[in-house]
Amino acid sequence: MNKIKIISGDITKLDVDAIVNAANRSLLGGGGVDGAIHRAAGPELLDYCRSLGGCETGEAKITPGFNLPAKWVIHTVGPVWRGGDNREAELLQSCYSNSMNIAHEKSIKSIAFPAISTGVYGYPKPQAAEIAVNTVLKFLKDHQLPQQVIFTCFSPEDLEIYNQVYKKYS
Ligand code: ADP
Repeated sequence: MNKIKIISGDITKLDVDAIVNAANRSLLGGGGVDGAIHRAAGPELLDYCRSLGGCETGEAKITPGFNLPAKWVIHTVGPVWRGGDNREAELLQSCYSNSMNIAHEKSIKSIAFPAISTGVYGYPKPQAAEIAVNTVLKFLKDHQLPQQVIFTCFSPEDLEIYNQVYKKYS
């Protein structure tokens, strides 16, 4: 079975063990995918997040999914794009590897990622997709779990970019 799937859709609708949230450092919600996840999970998610004390850029923290179909939400904070010389690539890579590490620790079988940092945070989409795909492929080489990783594309442009990048590396 192919461990990686690239789909187009809304991550909040996915029936997977965990979805990843492109959060901000407060972990108290925001716009974009973060707002959509909080709306779909319900107010209990925000209450739970208040107890976590925020999250550093590149790090990840896990919460229940509450009203989401997904059992868990892994919140990670992507870097804001500031031209590329401010450790953006390294920090984005950490988002993917720390999220995969948490999933592995929790014996999560299926996990879905959005395109972290590529919305309001302005990370160039093709470069971000290269990091996403390569970091996950490397992790899957060394680990049995998760068995299934889904890259969720929210626009036709993202779908095209992910498919091209995946073709190149797989
Ligand atoms: P960031 O602040 O990390 O840039 P954004 O939420 O602004 O986060 O954007 C990250 C990516 O998530 C963008 O590609 C955006 O199109 C996408 N996105 C927004 N809403 C959803 C959703 N409901 N499901 C999947 N992806 C989404």
